[in-house]
Amino acid sequence: MRHARFRGWGPSLAAALLFLAAPARAEFRAGAARRAITPDLKRFGPVYIAGFGQNRVATGVHDELAARCLALSAGARPLVVCGVDSIGLYWDDVAGVRKAVVAADVIVAATHSHQTPDTMGLWGPSFGASGINDDYNRFVVEQTGAAAVEAVRGMKPAVLRLASVNLPELNGYFDDTRPPVVHDAEIVVLSVSARDGGAIGTLVNWANHPEALGSANTLLSADYLAYFYAQLERQLGGVAVFVNGAVGGMQSPLGAAITDPATGQPAPKNSFRFAEVLGARVADLAAEAVKKAGPARIDRIEFRERLIHIPLTNEGFRIAAQAGLFKSRKSPNDDGTMTAPVGYLRLARGAKPLAEAALVPGEMYPELSVGGIQRYPGADFPDAPLEPPLKKKMMRAPFRMLFGLANDEIGYIIPKAEWDQKQPWLRNASKSWYGEVNSVGPDAAPRIAEALRSLIR
Ligand SMILES: [Zn+2]
Repeated sequence: MRHARFRGWGPSLAAALLFLAAPARAEFRAGAARRAITPDLKRFGPVYIAGFGQNRVATGVHDELAARCLALSAGARPLVVCGVDSIGLYWDDVAGVRKAVVAADVIVAATHSHQTPDTMGLWGPSFGASGINDDYNRFVVEQTGAAAVEAVRGMKPAVLRLASVNLPELNGYFDDTRPPVVHDAEIVVLSVSARDGGAIGTLVNWANHPEALGSANTLLSADYLAYFYAQLERQLGGVAVFVNGAVGGMQSPLGAAITDPATGQPAPKNSFRFAEVLGARVADLAAEAVKKAGPARIDRIEFRERLIHIPLTNEGFRIAAQAGLFKSRKSPNDDGTMTAPVGYLRLARGAKPLAEAALVPGEMYPELSVGGIQRYPGADFPDAPLEPPLKKKMMRAPFRMLFGLANDEIGYIIPKAEWDQKQPWLRNASKSWYGEVNSVGPDAAPRIAEALRSLIR
């Protein structure tokens, strides 16, 4: 009887085994690793600190700079996201990281800390002299590649948690110096722990300049992220990874009044305490949200990328490239364009997306993320179509992220309708607004939006 029944079940048993094989292949795995990229000041010195003026020579190290990577796999090719304590890394250096990580797709996003070595060439000893030390850039590339490889090798069966926080309190951590006053203040968190219980790592996506220490500091630091990493790792264990968001136009804590919970008074500006209050608070909010989140099951990780060509109208960039400031990186194309990568990441269960990220190669104005582009009098392109806001209109998953400085740093990405390089100035201001001087040109935003529209589809 038994035998007969088993024979009878043959085909359906085979089908059941096939069915079982599919989820087994799509087992979710994760790993994380961190490698220091703090420069030895003797080996790499003088180290020019990036982000404010020229010739800010590092006199010491306050806290460790690192490349922090989180590897994820749903059975197919793994994907690694690395947040790197750096002002910005160009596509040329990111390509070097990818060469070292053949077994996975890699996203490299500089955190944009303004207390890290000049890896972009704009903040050297004097105007027109590069601050890049090629040996240090190579070291960053090697260490980031090594962290990514280690994260992939350490992958184990894991549980994913997704969470987000958007409190009115968060709007108080920004000082926006250019209208419209728009923040993408939401914190989005992607946390993974081992299925058998141990911590692995947590990626936090938020949009604010790590420049809380200001322009007079001469100690290398991850800025507020130094405290963020320490606090998040204390709370959740594993490796904390930070990926910045739409930080353009100008998302900065510098002018914000941030209350120190220890004194009830505003934390002193440009101080490590100011950075600590900010970083620790963001970490606490992220950790709290993760602790409340249930597991999110995914069986697909999709990563798409495209290289686009953006018309380069910024003469300053062209001159800087010709003067060798970028040390053979970032060469404009013969047709007057600049190449940059645009990418898209989706975590899904079947056809249902659970989390998405738009990968943007620079500092996007938050209007392009959460909406609110304004048509001000004085705009150079008053009839320019409005780019659809990425997090509000183009992505649909319950958790939507925008990775700024992703795989490249081309500077500000400004809504074309707000572009203003010619008088009269926006809102009839008496002087020009800050922004365009650090942008490739007015077509950066529409070209990136167009690429994302087709990548997201
Ligand atoms: Zn910036």
